[in-house]
Formats: sequence, structure tokens, C-alpha cells
Amino acid sequence: MSEFQSALDLVQSTLRDLRDMGVELRASAESLERLADTETATPIVAEANPVLPVAVSKAAPKPVETKPTEPKPARPQVASPVVLESRVAPLTGSKAERLDAMRGPVLACTKCPHLVKSRTQVVFGVGNPEAELMFVGEAPGEDEDKQGEPFVGKAGQLLTKIIETMGFARSDVYIANVLKCRPDMPPGMPGNRKPKAEEMQVCLPYLREQIDIIQPRVIVALGATAMEGLTSSTDSMSRLRGRWHDFQGTPLMATYHPAYLLRNQSLSEKRKVWEDMLMVLEKLEKPITEKQRNYFLQK
Ligand code: URA
Repeated sequence: MSEFQSALDLVQSTLRDLRDMGVELRASAESLERLADTETATPIVAEANPVLPVAVSKAAPKPVETKPTEPKPARPQVASPVVLESRVAPLTGSKAERLDAMRGPVLACTKCPHLVKSRTQVVFGVGNPEAELMFVGEAPGEDEDKQGEPFVGKAGQLLTKIIETMGFARSDVYIANVLKCRPDMPPGMPGNRKPKAEEMQVCLPYLREQIDIIQPRVIVALGATAMEGLTSSTDSMSRLRGRWHDFQGTPLMATYHPAYLLRNQSLSEKRKVWEDMLMVLEKLEKPITEKQRNYFLQK
């Protein structure tokens, strides 16, 4: 088996696994054409659409040709790999129109039947579609599930304070979560649970699409779960915070989740989050006052 065939087999089996996990796979027509344009590949069905659902056929592989074939003209080497897309909104229109187009399908999502059963509503995201700054949290809690908006409970009120202390209004930025549904809890159990890895994998394409539409200049990941969703890193927050990471070319700052600050009221932890936000303001080239520089410093 050639190296190419092994690589192709691997891509196809990964696609099948993802599809079996319920991930909706889409690829550009060009990518599908390139994949299908091989004599040994399992056929891949594409419809005439700019962005297409991938249907990996279970048909038997083509029999190997025995008669000599015309040598094919060499295809130019294409640097880009197969790009998988899982989009629910069109690629054209204003950012607001494209986010609006996403909203219906996301609110009607049924990919996690257990969460469909337990949720009050899907929490899509809120804020300015043209935002330079985007905050990403982990998942809706009880308050968010009731109100349909991210970060409206106690942790959310603290996040709003942080945003305002930075010099923004909450409506200037965009706020979304890795998971759009509240993770279910055993009946009668209060509190919230961390999203499972499988739940995050199913839901992440929505967040990625939101980020792709908004194209913020900076993303702030609130807590380790948001970082795990965005970068797959499972490092502790104490190691991740306070420095720049990358999300597909966009500067990504990791900081503590506001719920952590509510549990740990020490000035030094508040200062750490504030230092992360000062780095964000610097990256955005926003003016910083002396008063802002000195918040939460030990006197
Ligand atoms: N915590 C989160 O991570 N997201 C919310 O929307 C609320 C609390």
C-alpha cells in the first residue's frame, strides 16, 4: 500500500469516526474534488454547492484497472490539506447577518439528546458582531439556561464589571461559550458540571464559526475548560494565564474564570486577572490610565 493510500485511508476513517460521533462534516467542493480525483479512493459524494455535507460512501472500492491508461497530466501540487468545514451560516453577508443565520440552526440543535432533554434553551452568544474583543466561557449555568444569555449569573456580573473596568460596555464585546447547552445534572442536584470532552467536540464547530464570522482582534478564554476547547491544552490555568496563545491566527489570552475569583477573593488573584486584561488592552492599543494600571495592587 502506497504512503498516499495509507494517508487517504486514515483521513477517510477519521471522517467516518467523526460522522459516527455525530459531528456534521462539511468540506469545500474543491477539497472533495481533489479527494475524489484519485483512482484508488473510496468515492465521496458531493452536491453542487459551495459548502457541502460530506457523505462518505460505503460502496466497495473500484476494481483495479488492468488495461493501460493514458498518463494523466501532472496535477499542480496543492499546499493546503483537506479543509473540513462544519458551517451552518452562509459565507457571505454582514457579520450580523451571518451570525443571525447561525442562530436558528444552533437554537434547534439536537446533536446531544441528553442535553436537549435537560436544557431550558440553547445559549447562543451575545454582543457586538463587529467586536474587537471576544470572551469565551465554558458552558451556560442555571441562570444562563433560564435567560438564554451567557454570563448573566453571579460570575457573569463579575465579568461585566471586568469588561466595564477595561473601558468597554458589555455590548461592545462578544461573549460566547464552548458549549451552548447547560451540562445536565442528576435530578435534584444543584450546581453545574464541567462539559465532557465529547460534548465539547460536538459543539465546538459552532464556536469556531462564531469566531470565524466575528474575526475579533483578541480572544480571552475564561478558565481551563475554555482553553481546552479552543486549544486542546489541558495545562493548569496557573501555567496558561498571563501569556499569549494563538487561536487560528488570533491572539488568545488565558485568564481565570470569574467564578474562580468569586471563590477566591484574594487581592493577588484579582490582580492576576487584571494584569491579563491590561495585556489585552495593550494588544488592542487602547489607552490605559494610571488608575487602571494600579487596580488591585497591594498598598
Ligand atoms: N460560566 C460560563 O462559563 N459561562 C456562562 O455563560 C456562565 C457561567
